[in-house]
Amino acid sequence: MKLILLGPPGAGKGTQARRLEEGRGLRQLSTGDMLRGEIASGSSLGRQAKAVMDAGHLVSDDIMIALIAHRIDQPDCARGFILDGFPRTVAQAEGLDGMLAAKGMHLDHVIELTVDEAILLDRIRTRVAESGGSVRADDNEEVLKNRLEVYRRQTAPIIPYYRDRGMLKTVDGMQPIDAVSTDIEAILDSELTQVG
Ligand code: AMP
Repeated sequence: MKLILLGPPGAGKGTQARRLEEGRGLRQLSTGDMLRGEIASGSSLGRQAKAVMDAGHLVSDDIMIALIAHRIDQPDCARGFILDGFPRTVAQAEGLDGMLAAKGMHLDHVIELTVDEAILLDRIRTRVAESGGSVRADDNEEVLKNRLEVYRRQTAPIIPYYRDRGMLKTVDGMQPIDAVSTDIEAILDSELTQVG
């Protein structure tokens, strides 16, 4: 099963992706985590990405598409994967479609976690406050506001991209974590019933 979880930073995509990884044996592919891994390893890609990420901007589409194309070929993705943080632009969504088609694959679900931005900013402030000083370099409030703006401008347009293709499902991401999980599971199970 191949899924995309969409939603602004702080919507809970990572939490839900990890639950699906544990519950269904799917592999969570967080492009943010992959890039942070590149930075930690000191690779040339990591060095290129660091300044861009620290400013809350997006790493180039070509780099991201190549990163994912390589990653989904690894054996641990054989049972399926959950894309968390990718695609972030319409160009990435188109690149993903082409890449999957070339591999004889297709997406099963695109699930958008919807949020209330005011509550989201509160959540993000709480997350930073609770991190006890171990905040990510890109996790200060100004950068996070910038990331929300980048999301609205560059990532939100992929929502109609998937809606127009009849693939988009939305879940209220402001519910408690368990309720969000229940809604996501219901989407995955209802589609299985229809297919089966
Ligand atoms: P995240 O952990 O998903 O919030 O990502 C952290 C940062 O990594 C983002 O603010 C971007 O700078 C970069 N990034 C992650 N995923 C992508 C992507 N699909 N396209 C471009 N940049 C990305």
